[in-house]
Amino acid sequence: MKLLSIVVPCYNEQEVLPMFYDKITEVMGQMMEKHSELTYEVIFINDGSKDATLQGLRKYAAMDERIRYISFTRNFGKEAGMFAGLEAAKGDYVVVMDADLQHPPEFLPQMYEYVSSGEYDCATTRRVSREGESKIRSWFARKFYSIMNKISQTEIVDGAQDYRFMTRQMVDSILSMREYNRFSKGIFSWVGYRVKYIEYKNVERAAGTTAWSFWGLFKYSIEGIVAFSTAPLAIASLLGVISCLIAFIMAIVIIVQKLTVGIAEPGYPTIVCLILLIGGIQLFTIGILGQYLAKTYMECKRRPVYLVQETEEDVRKNLPEQ
Ligand code: UDP
Ligand code: MG
Repeated sequence: MKLLSIVVPCYNEQEVLPMFYDKITEVMGQMMEKHSELTYEVIFINDGSKDATLQGLRKYAAMDERIRYISFTRNFGKEAGMFAGLEAAKGDYVVVMDADLQHPPEFLPQMYEYVSSGEYDCATTRRVSREGESKIRSWFARKFYSIMNKISQTEIVDGAQDYRFMTRQMVDSILSMREYNRFSKGIFSWVGYRVKYIEYKNVERAAGTTAWSFWGLFKYSIEGIVAFSTAPLAIASLLGVISCLIAFIMAIVIIVQKLTVGIAEPGYPTIVCLILLIGGIQLFTIGILGQYLAKTYMECKRRPVYLVQETEEDVRKNLPEQ
């Protein structure tokens, strides 16, 4: 028998949860009919939802033994949710997907074919359109990918998503990366393996609202850059070298000027401008250093990525014996 673990991070998903449950049960039912060797488990991660997500999960776990869940003590973020799910997954294959049906379960059979045939270690979807997303957001997203790929050795594919169907071997590799600051787009790519990209058009969220604000995404992209590239540190040194060069050239110009034609004006505005410019560059580069220092600081504290409040076992313990 082959077990497929489906990992689903959920944050305030009470509206889509029933839709997701029905859909996944239907799709997996069909898949198991076709592949008799296949069984599955669904692991929901309740990431500190403030709505009735947890109540819904308790209900499903009580009535369906294939449903498992992990409930966090507070909101730890989607990265922590995925990590917890991967740690809990027992499957020979593991798939990570969103609860809002933006990662259509209809792709699962196709992904299973690609990975189980042994041709690929991972199958994932890649959006080729960003329909239903604001123009500015798409523009920033595209810029992020192009900058990221210039400055980082780890390739981050534009439009690739966190909808990943993986072998146990790949999951174990991902789990061996114990970093606290988890940027999974980078992690998925860093581990390597043979990846099949399935292209599709963007699907809008089935219900509920996205938890990502523009500012949140911006901070996330900075985190991605800091986590997978040290180029900003090199840029900081480069700025220092450039300003030294400019200062050197200016010194020569001034000396030559003094010796030949003489200097008429006192040069006060030039000095103010230069002080401001150099001060600005210094603060900017110290800021870059600070970003890395902050990450190093968080990393060396070795805090757990997430904390668990309850799991499906707590619900099943209290069920009457049948
Ligand atoms: N999510 C989560 N923790 C968070 C934010 C989001 O577990 O702090 C989950 C959310 O429930 C969903 C997935 O991550 O299943 C993707 O979130 P969302 O749909 O809000 O993001 P988008 O699709 O807009 O990128
Ligand atoms: Mg979504």
